[in-house]
Amino acid sequence: MSRVINFSSGPATLPEPVLKRAAADMLDWRGSGMSVMEMSHRGPEFTEILAHTQTLIRSLLGVPDNYAVLLMQGGAIAENAILPMNLIGKTGQADYVLSGVWSEKSMKEAAKYGQIHLAASSSSSGFLSMPRQTDWRLSADAAYVHMCSNETIGGVECHWTPDTGSVPLVADMSSNIMSAPLNVSRYGLIYAGAQKNMGPSGVTLVIVRRDLFGHALDITPSAFNYQLQDEQSSMYNTPPTYAIYIMGLVLQHIKEQGGLPAMQSHNQAKAELLYEFLDHSAMFSNRVAREDRSRMNVTFFLKDESLNAAFLQGAEKEGMVQLRGHRSAGGMRASIYNAMSLDSVQRLRDYMHWFEKDNA
Ligand SMILES: *Cc1c(COP(=O)(O)O)cnc(C)c1O
Repeated sequence: MSRVINFSSGPATLPEPVLKRAAADMLDWRGSGMSVMEMSHRGPEFTEILAHTQTLIRSLLGVPDNYAVLLMQGGAIAENAILPMNLIGKTGQADYVLSGVWSEKSMKEAAKYGQIHLAASSSSSGFLSMPRQTDWRLSADAAYVHMCSNETIGGVECHWTPDTGSVPLVADMSSNIMSAPLNVSRYGLIYAGAQKNMGPSGVTLVIVRRDLFGHALDITPSAFNYQLQDEQSSMYNTPPTYAIYIMGLVLQHIKEQGGLPAMQSHNQAKAELLYEFLDHSAMFSNRVAREDRSRMNVTFFLKDESLNAAFLQGAEKEGMVQLRGHRSAGGMRASIYNAMSLDSVQRLRDYMHWFEKDNA
């Protein structure tokens, strides 16, 4: 068996001990005689797995008791609709901050359910920065303010917590949740697909302050009603059981590594290694405003784009895959989530260094 160094933006590389654990459990989870995939979601075994995963989410992120922790289906793209359906009813309006492809998609989807205000945008600069808080134009009667805390495609991350006063702040944290400690109480709602930092695709984490319940539009599907899902402990419909189990293993692994403070220094070290190299390279460059650079998705361009194919081919020969940038962005992107080791990032840096010298 040989494993590649996988820089995929998501679904992304998972910790090897987690995959080995899952393999060992595959046919018989803890003497139950069943695979987790075969268990009734209401049986005692899965009830324990779900509780374990939810407890880890609460303890790692320090989720306050007045927040619900929901494990839903549909991914972050479905949440773009589920969110306004549940929350916008309070005033019929919401504010959106645009920092890239994902927040733009969120705003377009929300416009189907209410009146949307553009509160701030960095589109005029090609989405290479996070709009500064002083440039946010918030409306007093918004039901919530939406932002994306890490733009996975552009490689732009918000490294500060916005202040939206009494209007609840909502964040799509799909690609940077669990990468550093977080003050959940500063948010009204956080949502994230699992397949970047927390597990496989198929499960979506929603953390929501319970006082925001009670404004769901009549058209909201029951399976996507936050309050109903909270009342039924995420079991109104069959939850994505296997994905929840793997998520539990990933979170347990994070905990054993030292939790989110340890993830923060690990991720900081990896990102610094790459940005430091890019800033001193004559061949490669990153275009994102320095203070808004993502620690999760490092985007870069070759000055001579005719070398792109050779760069990717050479990387593949070294066992490094999925470095091509998103089709809408071009260039390259190294996604270096929690499960990516410092050693693997060093290998990428060394390869880039070699490639630059070889093509000088
Ligand atoms: C990956 C990603 C999404 C899309 O998630 P789906 O699982 O495809 O719905 C949305 N937002 C961000 C920030 C992402 O990184």
